[in-house]
Amino acid sequence: MAALQGYAALVTGAAQGIGRAVLDRFVAEGARVGALVRRDSDAEALIAAHSDRVAPVVGDVRSWEDNVRAVETVVARFGGLDVLVPNAGVYDFSVPFEDLTGPQIAAQFDELFAVNVKGYLLAARAGLAALRASRGSIVFTLSSSSFYAGGGGVLYVSSKHGLVGTVRQLAFELAPDIRVNAVAPGGTRTKLGGLAVAGEARKLDQIPGFEAMVAKTVPLGFLAEPEDHAGLYVTLASREASRFVTAAIIPSDGGLEVRGGGRRRKPVGDAS
Ligand code: NAD
Repeated sequence: MAALQGYAALVTGAAQGIGRAVLDRFVAEGARVGALVRRDSDAEALIAAHSDRVAPVVGDVRSWEDNVRAVETVVARFGGLDVLVPNAGVYDFSVPFEDLTGPQIAAQFDELFAVNVKGYLLAARAGLAALRASRGSIVFTLSSSSFYAGGGGVLYVSSKHGLVGTVRQLAFELAPDIRVNAVAPGGTRTKLGGLAVAGEARKLDQIPGFEAMVAKTVPLGFLAEPEDHAGLYVTLASREASRFVTAAIIPSDGGLEVRGGGRRRKPVGDAS
């Protein structure tokens, strides 16, 4: 039987990348899935792919009302909420700390943490009553940047490290009703975007040499595709597979732990 038959789920940032791969896999496993997406065209594309098995809501994860609307839509359409996947995120493109002015740090912190951290907290709070009613679970998207330096700049890495605390605190507070876990992907071929204040048009998959750099850094030797992580979300979401699992953060990063994080920076003045 499909692993998530009869489940109702909600994925934020599900229009593309890892969120879309999770949504597609959840549908393939029998779930019906709500999606919080940015644009009408994102919602139309999801309906074209999955018709009435998806319920997209156009909104912004930084908005409490939009998170509530997304949860209410899933409950109204699919009769409850079994799994919540807070996933929408933005990247800082590894700008060195010393290259940021004080005012830039102030502005970019507010923007990045509002999506990467506040967006996750608002989604979890909006889904709380429905998840408690179903004795469901939350599966956050974390990152190898939740554990290692060098996979982003200080703002991104701080935000993803902070989410380790989010997983642990919520797993502690919401037990035994709601299991709270996470998947921590490493470098993945997506169009992860940047901060509006720093030029929103940049995309992760356009960084020159990104694929080769990831392939060289991780023991398994390749850049992940979004689909490579999706099975772990299914496993953590499944009551059958993960009944005794909470506060777990599963790396899906090609083995970074036995290699360490990103590249070391050259000492100042080293022109080699
Ligand atoms: P992506 O850009 O393909 O997906 C991110 C989604 O979030 C997009 O659909 C975007 O529209 C949405 N989003 C951004 N801001 C939003 C907002 N304010 N409101 C609603 N939606 C918003 O990138 P991705 O790589 O699939 O990123 C998904 C998650 O995976 C992020 O949390 C990211 O930090 C994490 N991650 C990515 C990688 C990687 O190498 N790509 C590695 C580790 C973790």
